[in-house]
Amino acid sequence: MRLATARTVEGPRVVLDHRGQKRLTALPSLSIALRDGALEDPSAIPGVPIDHDAPLDLGPVVTDPGKVICVGHNYKQHIREMGHELPAYPNVFSKFADALVGPEDDILLDAASTAWDWEGELAVVIGRTVRNATGREARSAIAGWTVANDVTARDWQRRSSQWLMGKSFDRTTPLGPWLVPASEADPTDGLVLTCTVDGVEKQRASTSDLLFDPVWLVAYLSQVMTLHAGDVLLTGTPGGVGSARTPAERLQQGQQVVTEIEGIGSLHNRCVTQENPASPSSDRI
Ligand code: MG
Repeated sequence: MRLATARTVEGPRVVLDHRGQKRLTALPSLSIALRDGALEDPSAIPGVPIDHDAPLDLGPVVTDPGKVICVGHNYKQHIREMGHELPAYPNVFSKFADALVGPEDDILLDAASTAWDWEGELAVVIGRTVRNATGREARSAIAGWTVANDVTARDWQRRSSQWLMGKSFDRTTPLGPWLVPASEADPTDGLVLTCTVDGVEKQRASTSDLLFDPVWLVAYLSQVMTLHAGDVLLTGTPGGVGSARTPAERLQQGQQVVTEIEGIGSLHNRCVTQENPASPSSDRI
């Protein structure tokens, strides 16, 4: 069982992949599908069967999240190798939905920055409204997992103590390809996350090394804000980012970034300095 959002001639539509059968629903948003119980009873969601191998033009797995919340410095090994003490509380920031792109879309390297960097991450999608959650409530509020790359303009990030400007350029953050239900994978078991640039591995870590795990983060965030179905949480990146290398490395026009999490999925994105007017692809269903 998994869910995605496909771009169709009629707009975004949720796709269900359940028991080996893909179905195109009339639902325009994964947030709505989650509120309608797509995880609890997928067979109750109407949809048209589509060929399992038919090419899909996938958008961000959630196209309209009410919130995109991010965590910085969350892999223990990476924090220690940077010479820092393990923090008592996570560094939390946000980005906006306009930053999101699909799992095979281009990443737009805006000319306003000269220091584009990769950050492969596990992403959490919220499945139900929750506030002041206990650990148990936080666990049940997580719909599932997907893959993200928190592509960052380091120069803009470092202009001030607040990271927002370096993290929210339009069309920089691939998210997808599918939502894998929380019941089908557990990051605390240790899923291997990798990020490669032009085939060269830059990041490799286990999600079991997360200092603040997804359930803890959902409970923590819910002490401050109500989380709703479709909200997205990026859980932080491990070591190996370009800015921590000597000499520093930056993403360049034409480079191919592949971000993968074992058992969750993979993102395949080309870096471009100008938006391609021909994209997204014309093979829409
Ligand atoms: Mg990040």
